[in-house]
Amino acid sequence: MTSLFDAPPLHRLTVFTGSALGNSTLYEQAAQTLAKIAVDRGMDLVYGGGKVGLMGVVADAFLESGGEVFGVITESLMDGELGHEKLTELEVVPNMHIRKHRMAELGDGFIAMPGGAGTLEELFEVWTWQQLGIHHKPVALYDVDGFWQPLLEMLEQMTQRGFIKRDFFECLIVESDPHQLLDAMQNWTPPAPKW
Ligand code: AMP
Repeated sequence: MTSLFDAPPLHRLTVFTGSALGNSTLYEQAAQTLAKIAVDRGMDLVYGGGKVGLMGVVADAFLESGGEVFGVITESLMDGELGHEKLTELEVVPNMHIRKHRMAELGDGFIAMPGGAGTLEELFEVWTWQQLGIHHKPVALYDVDGFWQPLLEMLEQMTQRGFIKRDFFECLIVESDPHQLLDAMQNWTPPAPKW
């Protein structure tokens, strides 16, 4: 099967997260801790390029820790999510499809942190692409304060009812500790594609 992307070592992390901050400071603290640990491991960030919400916090934390940050934002979101001016590189692309494709292409692995509908959409796209063998990169949920547990219950039900293969469900990395999260991503091996 031809793959759009290779499976490189984990150097750039694509992080999907909220354009809001959420109503607990735990999320910001978790973003800052992850960034510091990732930069200590020589990792850089790819993300949606905005300066608002938790996505802005993640970007600032990577920069403050000395990491490089690559943002990809659409022309229209430059106003709404206010493109971050201090990034290593900010790509402004015409539409959301190109944005998500670039974020998938630039990163060596994907982390979903707490967020809303946009975060879910981005997560499910890269996870389904993994199942189809379109890329061979790890997809991880950073389970801050049990944030992803209700979603995992839903996915477990889908697996039990025969709509998700157990192998694919188990390929999704879920960790609340950032060290273990990055360890799991670095040691991850891709599943056999669905078809
Ligand atoms: P949210 O989790 O809804 O705060 O959104 C987080 C990120 O997802 C932001 O960068 C949004 O621009 C992006 N986003 C929002 N809606 C969508 C969508 N329908 N498709 C793809 N990305 C989206």
